[in-house]
Amino acid sequence: MNNFGLNIWSNKNFVIEDGLIKLNYKSMPSLLEITEKIRSNNVRGPMLLRFPHLIRRQIRTLYSYFDKAIKNNKYEGSFNAVFPLKVNQFPHAVEAIMSQGKKFNYGLEAGSKAELILAMSQTNLGANITVNGFKDKEMITLGFIAAQSGHNITLTIEGLGELETIIEVAKECNLKIPNIGIRVRLHSAGSGIWAKSGGMDAKFGLTSTEIIEAITLLSQEDMLNNLTMIHFHIGSQMSDIAPLKRALREAGNIYAELRKMGAKELNNINIGGGLAVEYDQHTPSTSRNYSIDEFSSSVVFLLAEIMNAKKVKHPNIFTESGRFIVASHALLITPVLELFSQDYQEKLLNFKEVNPPILQELIELNKLLSNQNCIEYLHDALDHMESLLTLFDLGYIDLQDRSNAEILVHNIIKKALYLKSANPTDELEQLQVKLQERYLINASIFQSLPDYWGLDQHFPVMPIHHLNSTPLRAASLWDITCDSDGEIGFNPEKPLYLHDINLDEEEYFLGFFNVGAYQETLGMNHNLFTHPSEYTIKIDDEGYKIINEVESKSILDILESIGYDKNEILEKLKNDLIMSDFIAEKEKDDTLAKLETFVEQNGYLRTTN
Ligand SMILES: *Cc1c(COP(=O)(O)O)cnc(C)c1O
Repeated sequence: MNNFGLNIWSNKNFVIEDGLIKLNYKSMPSLLEITEKIRSNNVRGPMLLRFPHLIRRQIRTLYSYFDKAIKNNKYEGSFNAVFPLKVNQFPHAVEAIMSQGKKFNYGLEAGSKAELILAMSQTNLGANITVNGFKDKEMITLGFIAAQSGHNITLTIEGLGELETIIEVAKECNLKIPNIGIRVRLHSAGSGIWAKSGGMDAKFGLTSTEIIEAITLLSQEDMLNNLTMIHFHIGSQMSDIAPLKRALREAGNIYAELRKMGAKELNNINIGGGLAVEYDQHTPSTSRNYSIDEFSSSVVFLLAEIMNAKKVKHPNIFTESGRFIVASHALLITPVLELFSQDYQEKLLNFKEVNPPILQELIELNKLLSNQNCIEYLHDALDHMESLLTLFDLGYIDLQDRSNAEILVHNIIKKALYLKSANPTDELEQLQVKLQERYLINASIFQSLPDYWGLDQHFPVMPIHHLNSTPLRAASLWDITCDSDGEIGFNPEKPLYLHDINLDEEEYFLGFFNVGAYQETLGMNHNLFTHPSEYTIKIDDEGYKIINEVESKSILDILESIGYDKNEILEKLKNDLIMSDFIAEKEKDDTLAKLETFVEQNGYLRTTN
């Protein structure tokens, strides 16, 4: 049975039982029952489900491995984590991180003014806030306001100019001075497709010369004791652990040197994010070559080794893991709206009293196809199809004959694929690719999987039901944007097979997994499809609760969000209808009511599914 690589990417968060995919937690609800429950309230279109217990699991995993490494290495510093807001700023994601991380005093990282305001409003006083990215005087002043208000905030400087501004603001006001961190420009670069954050030509950080200048400047201003942190970040979805180790050696030695230069309050090394998530559905461990165990012990071991050699106090360790903490907590459920080749159903055959002889032969082939003869019959059928198309072009057979022939050949191929599914020939595999089924999903790839569109990042995808029957259709997925890039094509190297479902009779839902990191704010409103409706699912021993429902924006609100006046638009549409000729009073009222309902719904499709 095909488990869609669940054993590779799901980290045991889900299991397959009775043909359904279920949450592997407490009362173990199935995704299908949650989906149906939500849809029973007349919700249609794609749905984003959040599972706070999966955030808790990641936070606990991170802490427990670092705690273990700290014990094993007799490490004297503490372990601290902040969540980088750019990975997911959505209220119900941040709320889940803050509540599940409360026990660990989990903090937030901000990379822009808006994120800083968010961090100041969402962290518990006393939890850490770190601020990275480029800053102007206002943003730095906001840092002072945060410190004054009681936040444990560290402004990490990306250049000397920012340090000069901090000194300037400190002189101009009497507010509490925030902690200062220095981002070091690493000589060593990261790995993976996102690794642009390290290296000599990196966008961020101070060179060694600049670090020395910064120390001189801070000493002159009597502010050296405000320097508390050394920071680096080698890039996201780190595939190889070697660059991290090089970065740690570099940053660890800089830390030790600076302590020796008199930075007495320098107590923290912030190792940024980068912990990778498994997205692969086919081959294990292609996303990364290390485990969380190796990651945490390498960090702690290396830092201890450097500090012991240089006889310097062990620094507290900070991480800014984002992807690792939230990727698994959200998944997208999309109804399948259409299977394009459903036009080839056998029930649509419509034979004549007398059919052309070659069509008659196809009828026989279809009837008599068996395991023994199927390759031979398949070849005959393909051959006949060629002849039939030629006969049609020459005018010897009509459209009805051609339609019958197409349905029959399609069926013969499908049957052959099915009969030989255990050990298909090369030829059958190629046919399968050619005959791939296109599944139309009620979602926008641009909105919900932007990294697929922009970076070719694959996300695990599988049906949430029918899992006790073998899927046989080579599948490509098409979204409902009218853009040809809104397609996840069939890849013979990493094939996706789905079920042959008659959508007139039953529904078919696909789940896209591990979409909780980066996708939500990166998602774009192409064709004006907005963030899907979202729900937080809290699971306990008895069952589950659906809370925090946020419906996808209504059509009028979408238009308003890009600057239109929604009332003006609605008035205009209503007025045009009212003023139209030849419309009966009853018809007019009904149509107006319809119009008003439609514009208050979200923009995803509501047909059948
Ligand atoms: C983006 C970013 C992170 C998060 O990286 P992940 O790979 O998601 O863990 C952490 N720190 C900084 C400075 C970042 O820019």
